[in-house]
Amino acid sequence: MALSYSAFSLARHALTGHRHWPRAWRDPAPKPRYSAIIIGGGGHGLASAYYLAKEHSITDVAVLERGWLGGGNTGRNTTIIRSNYLLEPNAHFYEFSLKLWEGLSRDLNYNAMVSQRGVVNLAHSDAQMDNFAYRGNAMRLNGIDAELLDRAAVQRLVPMLDYSDHVRFPIYGALLQRRGGTARHDAVAWGFARAADRRGVDIIQNCEVTGIRVEQGRVRGVETTRGFIAADKVGIAVAGHSSHVAAMAGLRLPIESHVLQAFVSEPLKPFFDTVVTFGVGHFYVSQSDKGELVMGGDIDMYNSYAQRGNLPMVEHTLAAGLAVLPMMSRLRMMRLWGGVMDMTMDGSPIIGKTPIEGLYIDGGWCYGGFKATPASGFVFAHTIAQDRPHPLNEAFTLDRFERGAAIDERGAGPTPNAH
Ligand SMILES: Cc1cc2nc3c(=O)[nH]c(=O)nc-3n(C[C@H](O)[C@H](O)[C@H](O)COP(=O)(O)OP(=O)(O)OC[C@H]3O[C@@H](n4cnc5c(N)ncnc54)[C@H](O)[C@@H]3O)c2cc1C
Repeated sequence: MALSYSAFSLARHALTGHRHWPRAWRDPAPKPRYSAIIIGGGGHGLASAYYLAKEHSITDVAVLERGWLGGGNTGRNTTIIRSNYLLEPNAHFYEFSLKLWEGLSRDLNYNAMVSQRGVVNLAHSDAQMDNFAYRGNAMRLNGIDAELLDRAAVQRLVPMLDYSDHVRFPIYGALLQRRGGTARHDAVAWGFARAADRRGVDIIQNCEVTGIRVEQGRVRGVETTRGFIAADKVGIAVAGHSSHVAAMAGLRLPIESHVLQAFVSEPLKPFFDTVVTFGVGHFYVSQSDKGELVMGGDIDMYNSYAQRGNLPMVEHTLAAGLAVLPMMSRLRMMRLWGGVMDMTMDGSPIIGKTPIEGLYIDGGWCYGGFKATPASGFVFAHTIAQDRPHPLNEAFTLDRFERGAAIDERGAGPTPNAH
Protein backbone atom coordinates (compact mmCIF):
# COMPACT_ATOMS: atom_id res chain seq x y z
CA MET A 1 0.00 0.00 0.00
CA ALA A 2 1.25 3.51 -0.82
CA LEU A 3 2.73 5.47 2.02
CA SER A 4 0.63 8.04 3.90
CA TYR A 5 1.60 11.61 3.14
CA SER A 6 2.39 13.53 6.33
CA ALA A 7 4.81 16.12 7.71
CA PHE A 8 6.81 13.20 9.09
CA SER A 9 7.09 11.35 5.73
CA LEU A 10 7.98 14.64 4.01
CA ALA A 11 10.78 15.28 6.51
CA ARG A 12 12.03 11.67 6.24
CA HIS A 13 12.20 11.82 2.42
CA ALA A 14 13.88 15.22 2.56
CA LEU A 15 16.81 13.54 4.31
CA THR A 16 17.38 11.33 1.22
CA GLY A 17 16.85 14.10 -1.34
CA HIS A 18 13.29 12.97 -2.18
CA ARG A 19 14.72 10.12 -4.30
CA HIS A 20 12.77 7.26 -2.73
CA TRP A 21 9.11 8.24 -2.83
CA PRO A 22 7.03 5.21 -3.91
CA ARG A 23 4.73 5.42 -6.95
CA ALA A 24 1.48 7.18 -6.11
CA TRP A 25 -0.51 4.34 -7.74
CA ARG A 26 0.29 0.99 -9.30
CA ASP A 27 0.34 0.26 -13.03
CA PRO A 28 -1.37 -3.15 -13.18
CA ALA A 29 -2.13 -5.23 -16.28
CA PRO A 30 -5.89 -5.68 -16.76
CA LYS A 31 -7.36 -8.84 -15.22
CA PRO A 32 -9.74 -10.95 -17.36
CA ARG A 33 -12.73 -10.10 -15.14
CA TYR A 34 -13.86 -7.47 -12.60
CA SER A 35 -16.99 -7.01 -10.53
CA ALA A 36 -17.21 -3.47 -11.88
CA ILE A 37 -15.49 -1.49 -14.61
CA ILE A 38 -15.56 2.29 -14.88
CA ILE A 39 -14.83 3.66 -18.35
CA GLY A 40 -12.96 6.99 -18.13
CA GLY A 41 -10.11 8.01 -15.83
CA GLY A 42 -11.20 11.59 -15.27
CA GLY A 43 -12.20 12.91 -11.86
CA HIS A 44 -15.67 11.37 -12.07
CA GLY A 45 -14.51 7.87 -13.01
CA LEU A 46 -11.77 7.88 -10.37
CA ALA A 47 -14.06 9.29 -7.67
CA SER A 48 -16.68 6.64 -8.50
CA ALA A 49 -14.10 3.87 -8.11
CA TYR A 50 -12.87 5.39 -4.84
CA TYR A 51 -16.36 5.57 -3.33
CA LEU A 52 -17.22 2.05 -4.60
CA ALA A 53 -14.28 0.82 -2.54
CA LYS A 54 -14.70 3.14 0.42
CA GLU A 55 -18.49 3.26 0.88
CA HIS A 56 -19.52 -0.12 -0.52
CA SER A 57 -16.44 -2.32 0.01
CA ILE A 58 -16.39 -3.20 -3.71
CA THR A 59 -12.69 -3.27 -4.51
CA ASP A 60 -12.63 -5.65 -7.48
CA VAL A 61 -12.89 -2.60 -9.73
CA ALA A 62 -10.95 -1.33 -12.76
CA VAL A 63 -10.88 2.21 -14.14
CA LEU A 64 -10.06 2.09 -17.86
CA GLU A 65 -8.59 5.25 -19.35
CA ARG A 66 -7.70 5.52 -23.00
CA GLY A 67 -4.99 8.17 -22.41
CA TRP A 68 -3.60 9.46 -19.13
CA LEU A 69 -5.45 10.24 -15.90
CA GLY A 70 -7.10 13.64 -15.93
CA GLY A 71 -6.17 14.21 -19.59
CA GLY A 72 -9.80 14.98 -20.46
CA ASN A 73 -11.88 17.81 -19.05
CA THR A 74 -10.67 17.22 -15.51
CA GLY A 75 -7.26 18.60 -16.43
CA ARG A 76 -8.65 21.26 -18.78
CA ASN A 77 -11.18 23.17 -16.72
CA THR A 78 -11.10 26.53 -14.98
CA THR A 79 -11.41 24.82 -11.56
CA ILE A 80 -14.42 26.73 -10.18
CA ILE A 81 -16.42 25.04 -7.44
CA ARG A 82 -19.73 26.38 -6.09
CA SER A 83 -23.29 25.35 -5.20
CA ASN A 84 -25.24 28.51 -6.10
CA TYR A 85 -28.13 26.75 -7.84
CA LEU A 86 -31.83 27.60 -7.88
CA LEU A 87 -33.61 24.31 -8.55
CA GLU A 88 -33.95 21.77 -5.75
CA PRO A 89 -32.23 18.74 -7.35
CA ASN A 90 -29.22 20.82 -8.41
CA ALA A 91 -29.04 22.80 -5.15
CA HIS A 92 -28.97 19.71 -2.91
CA PHE A 93 -26.60 17.77 -5.16
CA TYR A 94 -24.04 20.57 -5.60
CA GLU A 95 -24.21 21.58 -1.94
CA PHE A 96 -23.42 17.98 -0.99
CA SER A 97 -20.50 18.20 -3.40
CA LEU A 98 -19.23 21.43 -1.81
CA LYS A 99 -19.41 19.79 1.62
CA LEU A 100 -17.34 16.86 0.29
CA TRP A 101 -14.82 19.36 -1.18
CA GLU A 102 -14.49 20.96 2.24
CA GLY A 103 -13.12 17.71 3.73
CA LEU A 104 -11.61 16.19 0.59
CA SER A 105 -7.88 16.75 1.14
CA ARG A 106 -8.04 15.10 4.55
CA ASP A 107 -10.25 12.27 3.28
CA LEU A 108 -7.91 11.49 0.35
CA ASN A 109 -4.66 12.25 2.23
CA TYR A 110 -3.83 14.42 -0.76
CA ASN A 111 -3.84 18.19 -1.04
CA ALA A 112 -6.60 19.09 -3.51
CA MET A 113 -5.77 22.77 -2.89
CA VAL A 114 -9.40 23.68 -2.22
CA SER A 115 -9.57 27.46 -1.91
CA GLN A 116 -12.88 28.92 -0.70
CA ARG A 117 -12.17 32.40 -2.00
CA GLY A 118 -15.79 33.20 -2.91
CA VAL A 119 -17.64 33.24 -6.22
CA VAL A 120 -19.07 36.61 -7.29
CA ASN A 121 -21.79 36.65 -9.98
CA LEU A 122 -22.02 40.21 -11.34
CA ALA A 123 -25.41 41.86 -11.99
CA HIS A 124 -25.90 44.61 -14.59
CA SER A 125 -29.56 45.62 -14.34
CA ASP A 126 -32.39 45.87 -11.83
CA ALA A 127 -33.95 42.81 -13.40
CA GLN A 128 -30.77 40.81 -12.87
CA MET A 129 -30.54 42.01 -9.25
CA ASP A 130 -34.15 40.78 -8.73
CA ASN A 131 -33.22 37.48 -10.29
CA PHE A 132 -30.17 37.11 -8.04
CA ALA A 133 -32.22 38.00 -4.95
CA TYR A 134 -34.66 35.25 -5.96
CA ARG A 135 -31.84 32.70 -6.45
CA GLY A 136 -30.06 33.78 -3.27
CA ASN A 137 -33.28 33.39 -1.25
CA ALA A 138 -33.86 29.94 -2.72
CA MET A 139 -30.30 28.99 -1.83
CA ARG A 140 -30.68 30.19 1.75
CA LEU A 141 -33.96 28.31 2.12
CA ASN A 142 -32.00 25.22 1.06
CA GLY A 143 -29.35 25.91 3.74
CA ILE A 144 -26.74 27.22 1.26
CA ASP A 145 -24.82 30.43 1.93
CA ALA A 146 -25.66 33.37 -0.34
CA GLU A 147 -25.24 37.14 -0.05
CA LEU A 148 -26.66 39.86 -2.26
CA LEU A 149 -24.11 42.66 -2.63
CA ASP A 150 -24.82 46.21 -3.72
CA ARG A 151 -22.44 48.00 -6.05
CA ALA A 152 -20.35 49.52 -3.22
CA ALA A 153 -19.88 46.13 -1.58
CA VAL A 154 -18.77 44.59 -4.89
CA GLN A 155 -16.29 47.44 -5.34
CA ARG A 156 -14.80 46.80 -1.88
CA LEU A 157 -14.44 43.09 -2.66
CA VAL A 158 -13.18 43.33 -6.27
CA PRO A 159 -11.82 46.87 -6.71
CA MET A 160 -10.14 46.28 -10.08
CA LEU A 161 -13.34 45.95 -12.12
CA ASP A 162 -14.64 48.88 -14.19
CA TYR A 163 -17.20 50.77 -12.05
CA SER A 164 -17.61 53.79 -14.31
CA ASP A 165 -21.14 54.71 -15.44
CA HIS A 166 -20.51 55.09 -19.14
CA VAL A 167 -19.62 51.42 -19.73
CA ARG A 168 -21.81 49.09 -21.76
CA PHE A 169 -22.62 46.91 -18.72
CA PRO A 170 -22.57 49.06 -15.51
CA ILE A 171 -22.18 46.97 -12.35
CA TYR A 172 -25.34 47.10 -10.20
CA GLY A 173 -24.34 44.50 -7.60
CA ALA A 174 -23.67 40.80 -7.32
CA LEU A 175 -24.65 37.47 -5.81
CA LEU A 176 -21.82 36.13 -3.66
CA GLN A 177 -21.25 32.61 -2.43
CA ARG A 178 -18.33 32.88 0.00
CA ARG A 179 -17.89 29.11 0.33
CA GLY A 180 -17.40 28.76 -3.43
CA GLY A 181 -13.94 29.01 -4.95
CA THR A 182 -11.45 26.82 -6.75
CA ALA A 183 -9.64 23.49 -6.40
CA ARG A 184 -6.52 22.22 -8.15
CA HIS A 185 -7.84 20.07 -11.04
CA ASP A 186 -4.87 17.70 -11.56
CA ALA A 187 -4.58 17.12 -7.84
CA VAL A 188 -8.22 16.04 -7.76
CA ALA A 189 -7.60 13.33 -10.37
CA TRP A 190 -4.34 12.23 -8.77
CA GLY A 191 -5.75 12.31 -5.24
CA PHE A 192 -8.75 10.14 -6.12
CA ALA A 193 -6.52 7.81 -8.17
CA ARG A 194 -4.08 7.31 -5.34
CA ALA A 195 -6.83 6.84 -2.74
CA ALA A 196 -8.70 4.35 -4.96
CA ASP A 197 -5.49 2.43 -5.69
CA ARG A 198 -4.73 2.22 -1.97
CA ARG A 199 -8.07 0.47 -1.52
CA GLY A 200 -7.28 -2.09 -4.25
CA VAL A 201 -8.80 -0.53 -7.40
CA ASP A 202 -6.86 -1.23 -10.63
CA ILE A 203 -6.21 1.97 -12.58
CA ILE A 204 -5.34 1.10 -16.16
CA GLN A 205 -4.14 3.86 -18.48
CA ASN A 206 -3.62 3.56 -22.25
CA CYS A 207 -6.60 1.22 -22.44
CA GLU A 208 -9.34 2.47 -24.75
CA VAL A 209 -12.78 0.89 -24.64
CA THR A 210 -13.76 0.07 -28.22
CA GLY A 211 -16.95 -1.89 -27.61
CA ILE A 212 -19.48 -2.79 -24.91
CA ARG A 213 -20.63 -6.41 -24.97
CA VAL A 214 -24.35 -6.77 -24.26
CA GLU A 215 -26.14 -10.15 -24.29
CA GLN A 216 -29.86 -10.66 -23.62
CA GLY A 217 -30.24 -7.10 -22.38
CA ARG A 218 -27.38 -7.39 -19.88
CA VAL A 219 -23.86 -6.03 -19.98
CA ARG A 220 -21.12 -8.70 -20.06
CA GLY A 221 -17.96 -6.63 -20.31
CA VAL A 222 -15.99 -4.35 -22.58
CA GLU A 223 -13.78 -4.76 -25.64
CA THR A 224 -10.60 -2.74 -25.26
CA THR A 225 -7.34 -2.09 -27.05
CA ARG A 226 -5.88 -4.53 -24.50
CA GLY A 227 -8.45 -7.28 -25.09
CA PHE A 228 -11.89 -8.22 -23.76
CA ILE A 229 -12.47 -7.61 -20.05
CA ALA A 230 -15.55 -9.20 -18.46
CA ALA A 231 -17.57 -7.37 -15.80
CA ASP A 232 -20.94 -7.70 -14.06
CA LYS A 233 -21.34 -3.94 -13.98
CA VAL A 234 -20.00 -1.20 -16.24
CA GLY A 235 -20.17 2.55 -15.55
CA ILE A 236 -19.59 5.11 -18.30
CA ALA A 237 -17.91 8.37 -17.12
CA VAL A 238 -16.36 9.80 -20.28
CA ALA A 239 -17.78 13.37 -20.37
CA GLY A 240 -17.57 14.73 -23.96
CA HIS A 241 -17.42 11.21 -25.38
CA SER A 242 -20.60 10.02 -23.65
CA SER A 243 -22.67 9.75 -26.87
CA HIS A 244 -19.89 7.92 -28.65
CA VAL A 245 -19.31 5.35 -25.87
CA ALA A 246 -23.03 4.86 -25.10
CA ALA A 247 -23.59 4.16 -28.81
CA MET A 248 -21.30 1.12 -28.37
CA ALA A 249 -24.17 -0.37 -26.34
CA GLY A 250 -26.80 0.82 -28.83
CA LEU A 251 -27.93 3.82 -26.73
CA ARG A 252 -28.71 7.22 -28.25
CA LEU A 253 -28.30 10.03 -25.68
CA PRO A 254 -29.90 13.51 -25.54
CA ILE A 255 -26.38 14.98 -25.53
CA GLU A 256 -24.44 17.14 -27.99
CA SER A 257 -20.67 17.53 -27.87
CA HIS A 258 -19.30 21.07 -28.03
CA VAL A 259 -15.84 22.50 -27.35
CA LEU A 260 -15.25 24.85 -24.41
CA GLN A 261 -11.96 26.70 -24.15
CA ALA A 262 -9.86 28.09 -21.31
CA PHE A 263 -7.28 30.87 -21.46
CA VAL A 264 -4.36 31.73 -19.22
CA SER A 265 -2.46 35.02 -18.99
CA GLU A 266 1.12 35.71 -18.03
CA PRO A 267 1.64 35.53 -14.25
CA LEU A 268 1.01 38.62 -12.11
CA LYS A 269 1.51 39.36 -8.43
CA PRO A 270 -1.52 38.28 -6.35
CA PHE A 271 -4.22 40.92 -6.82
CA PHE A 272 -7.44 39.01 -7.57
CA ASP A 273 -8.59 36.88 -4.66
CA THR A 274 -12.09 35.82 -5.65
CA VAL A 275 -13.74 34.18 -8.65
CA VAL A 276 -15.76 36.63 -10.76
CA THR A 277 -18.36 35.65 -13.33
CA PHE A 278 -19.81 38.09 -15.86
CA GLY A 279 -22.85 36.23 -17.14
CA VAL A 280 -24.11 38.92 -19.51
CA GLY A 281 -20.94 38.76 -21.60
CA HIS A 282 -20.16 35.20 -20.54
CA PHE A 283 -16.73 35.52 -19.02
CA TYR A 284 -15.32 34.17 -15.77
CA VAL A 285 -11.94 34.74 -14.18
CA SER A 286 -9.81 33.82 -11.19
CA GLN A 287 -6.11 34.05 -10.39
CA SER A 288 -4.14 30.83 -10.02
CA ASP A 289 -1.57 30.20 -7.30
CA LYS A 290 1.09 30.77 -9.95
CA GLY A 291 -0.33 34.26 -10.56
CA GLU A 292 -1.88 33.64 -13.97
CA LEU A 293 -5.40 34.83 -14.71
CA VAL A 294 -7.46 31.76 -15.63
CA MET A 295 -10.39 32.64 -17.88
CA GLY A 296 -13.27 31.01 -19.68
CA GLY A 297 -16.29 31.98 -21.77
CA ASP A 298 -18.80 30.50 -24.19
CA ILE A 299 -18.76 27.12 -25.89
CA ASP A 300 -17.73 27.13 -29.56
CA MET A 301 -21.41 27.11 -30.68
CA TYR A 302 -21.11 24.19 -33.09
CA ASN A 303 -20.84 20.44 -32.52
CA SER A 304 -17.29 19.16 -32.43
CA TYR A 305 -14.96 16.55 -30.96
CA ALA A 306 -11.87 18.70 -31.69
CA GLN A 307 -10.13 18.96 -28.32
CA ARG A 308 -8.30 22.22 -29.06
CA GLY A 309 -8.62 25.99 -28.95
CA ASN A 310 -9.04 28.48 -31.78
CA LEU A 311 -8.45 32.18 -32.30
CA PRO A 312 -12.03 33.44 -32.90
CA MET A 313 -12.92 32.31 -29.37
CA VAL A 314 -9.89 34.12 -27.93
CA GLU A 315 -11.25 37.33 -29.39
CA HIS A 316 -14.84 36.62 -28.33
CA THR A 317 -13.95 35.75 -24.73
CA LEU A 318 -11.36 38.46 -24.16
CA ALA A 319 -13.67 41.11 -25.62
CA ALA A 320 -16.22 40.06 -22.99
CA GLY A 321 -13.53 40.15 -20.31
CA LEU A 322 -12.31 43.60 -21.25
CA ALA A 323 -15.83 44.95 -20.79
CA VAL A 324 -15.50 44.40 -17.01
CA LEU A 325 -11.74 44.14 -16.45
CA PRO A 326 -10.08 46.69 -18.77
CA MET A 327 -6.63 46.30 -17.14
CA MET A 328 -6.43 43.02 -19.06
CA SER A 329 -5.75 44.93 -22.28
CA ARG A 330 -2.12 45.24 -21.13
CA LEU A 331 -1.72 41.53 -20.38
CA ARG A 332 -0.15 38.92 -22.61
CA MET A 333 -2.06 35.69 -23.07
CA MET A 334 0.11 32.62 -22.53
CA ARG A 335 -1.94 29.53 -23.36
CA LEU A 336 -5.33 28.32 -24.49
CA TRP A 337 -6.83 24.88 -24.91
CA GLY A 338 -10.17 23.16 -25.43
CA GLY A 339 -12.16 20.36 -23.86
CA VAL A 340 -15.11 18.45 -25.30
CA MET A 341 -18.28 19.17 -23.33
CA ASP A 342 -21.22 16.80 -22.99
CA MET A 343 -24.12 19.27 -23.26
CA THR A 344 -27.58 17.97 -22.28
CA MET A 345 -30.83 19.52 -23.46
CA ASP A 346 -31.68 20.99 -20.04
CA GLY A 347 -28.16 21.81 -18.83
CA SER A 348 -28.31 19.26 -15.98
CA PRO A 349 -26.41 15.99 -15.76
CA ILE A 350 -27.48 12.39 -16.28
CA ILE A 351 -26.44 10.03 -13.46
CA GLY A 352 -28.14 6.68 -13.27
CA LYS A 353 -29.17 3.39 -14.77
CA THR A 354 -29.62 2.76 -18.48
CA PRO A 355 -32.17 0.45 -20.13
CA ILE A 356 -29.38 -2.17 -20.27
CA GLU A 357 -29.01 -4.18 -17.07
CA GLY A 358 -25.66 -3.58 -15.35
CA LEU A 359 -24.81 -0.55 -17.51
CA TYR A 360 -24.79 2.87 -15.82
CA ILE A 361 -24.04 6.36 -17.07
CA ASP A 362 -22.60 9.51 -15.52
CA GLY A 363 -22.47 12.31 -18.10
CA GLY A 364 -24.08 15.40 -19.51
CA TRP A 365 -21.97 17.66 -17.29
CA CYS A 366 -21.97 20.65 -19.64
CA TYR A 367 -19.82 23.49 -18.29
CA GLY A 368 -20.04 22.47 -14.69
CA GLY A 369 -18.92 18.94 -13.89
CA PHE A 370 -15.65 19.70 -12.12
CA LYS A 371 -17.36 21.04 -9.02
CA ALA A 372 -19.58 17.95 -9.07
CA THR A 373 -16.66 15.50 -9.02
CA PRO A 374 -16.87 14.27 -5.39
CA ALA A 375 -20.68 14.11 -5.24
CA SER A 376 -20.96 12.58 -8.67
CA GLY A 377 -18.50 9.86 -7.71
CA PHE A 378 -20.35 9.31 -4.43
CA VAL A 379 -23.84 8.92 -5.92
CA PHE A 380 -22.66 7.07 -9.04
CA ALA A 381 -20.88 4.53 -6.82
CA HIS A 382 -24.11 4.16 -4.80
CA THR A 383 -26.14 3.66 -7.99
CA ILE A 384 -23.75 1.01 -9.30
CA ALA A 385 -23.40 -0.80 -5.97
CA GLN A 386 -27.11 -0.80 -5.06
CA ASP A 387 -28.51 -0.85 -8.60
CA ARG A 388 -30.75 2.08 -7.65
CA PRO A 389 -30.12 5.81 -7.42
CA HIS A 390 -29.05 7.65 -4.30
CA PRO A 391 -31.74 10.19 -3.24
CA LEU A 392 -29.44 12.96 -4.54
CA ASN A 393 -29.40 11.65 -8.12
CA GLU A 394 -32.96 10.34 -8.32
CA ALA A 395 -33.99 13.28 -10.51
CA PHE A 396 -31.03 13.06 -12.92
CA THR A 397 -32.39 10.10 -14.88
CA LEU A 398 -31.85 9.41 -18.56
CA ASP A 399 -35.58 9.09 -19.21
CA ARG A 400 -36.49 12.51 -17.74
CA PHE A 401 -36.41 14.04 -21.23
CA GLU A 402 -39.09 11.70 -22.59
CA ARG A 403 -41.16 12.15 -19.40
CA GLY A 404 -40.94 15.94 -19.63
CA ALA A 405 -39.24 16.15 -16.23
CA ALA A 406 -36.36 18.36 -17.37
CA ILE A 407 -34.24 20.16 -14.74
CA ASP A 408 -33.81 23.40 -16.65
CA GLU A 409 -31.86 25.61 -14.23
CA ARG A 410 -31.73 28.61 -16.53
CA GLY A 411 -35.07 28.13 -18.24
CA ALA A 412 -33.25 28.08 -21.56
CA GLY A 413 -35.04 25.13 -23.17
CA PRO A 414 -33.46 22.41 -25.28
CA THR A 415 -30.64 24.60 -26.65
CA PRO A 416 -27.18 23.63 -25.41
CA ASN A 417 -25.70 26.99 -26.48
CA ALA A 418 -28.05 28.78 -24.09
CA HIS A 419 -27.12 26.66 -21.07
C1 LIG B 1 -12.37 24.79 -20.64
C2 LIG B 1 -13.24 24.16 -19.60
C3 LIG B 1 -13.57 24.85 -18.45
C4 LIG B 1 -14.38 24.27 -17.49
N1 LIG B 1 -14.57 24.94 -16.32
C5 LIG B 1 -15.25 24.34 -15.31
C6 LIG B 1 -15.33 24.98 -14.05
O1 LIG B 1 -14.74 26.06 -13.82
N2 LIG B 1 -16.04 24.38 -13.07
C7 LIG B 1 -16.68 23.20 -13.28
O2 LIG B 1 -17.36 22.73 -12.37
N3 LIG B 1 -16.59 22.54 -14.46
C8 LIG B 1 -15.87 23.08 -15.48
N4 LIG B 1 -15.73 22.42 -16.67
C9 LIG B 1 -16.40 21.12 -16.86
C10 LIG B 1 -15.61 19.99 -16.21
O3 LIG B 1 -14.25 20.07 -16.56
C11 LIG B 1 -16.14 18.63 -16.62
O4 LIG B 1 -17.54 18.60 -16.54
C12 LIG B 1 -15.59 17.54 -15.72
O5 LIG B 1 -14.20 17.68 -15.54
C13 LIG B 1 -15.91 16.20 -16.30
O6 LIG B 1 -15.17 15.21 -15.60
P1 LIG B 1 -15.19 13.74 -16.11
O7 LIG B 1 -14.35 12.94 -15.20
O8 LIG B 1 -16.59 13.32 -16.33
O9 LIG B 1 -14.57 13.85 -17.58
P2 LIG B 1 -13.05 13.84 -18.18
O10 LIG B 1 -12.13 14.45 -17.20
O11 LIG B 1 -13.15 14.36 -19.52
O12 LIG B 1 -12.76 12.29 -18.14
C14 LIG B 1 -13.29 11.40 -19.10
C15 LIG B 1 -12.17 10.48 -19.50
O13 LIG B 1 -12.73 9.46 -20.33
C16 LIG B 1 -11.71 9.08 -21.22
N5 LIG B 1 -12.32 8.35 -22.32
C17 LIG B 1 -13.10 8.82 -23.32
N6 LIG B 1 -13.44 7.83 -24.15
C18 LIG B 1 -12.88 6.71 -23.65
C19 LIG B 1 -12.87 5.35 -24.08
N7 LIG B 1 -13.52 4.95 -25.19
N8 LIG B 1 -12.18 4.44 -23.34
C20 LIG B 1 -11.51 4.82 -22.23
N9 LIG B 1 -11.48 6.10 -21.79
C21 LIG B 1 -12.17 7.02 -22.49
C22 LIG B 1 -11.07 10.40 -21.62
O14 LIG B 1 -9.77 10.22 -22.14
C23 LIG B 1 -11.09 11.18 -20.32
O15 LIG B 1 -9.86 11.13 -19.63
C24 LIG B 1 -14.93 22.97 -17.68
C25 LIG B 1 -14.60 22.27 -18.84
C26 LIG B 1 -13.74 22.83 -19.78
C27 LIG B 1 -13.38 22.03 -21.01
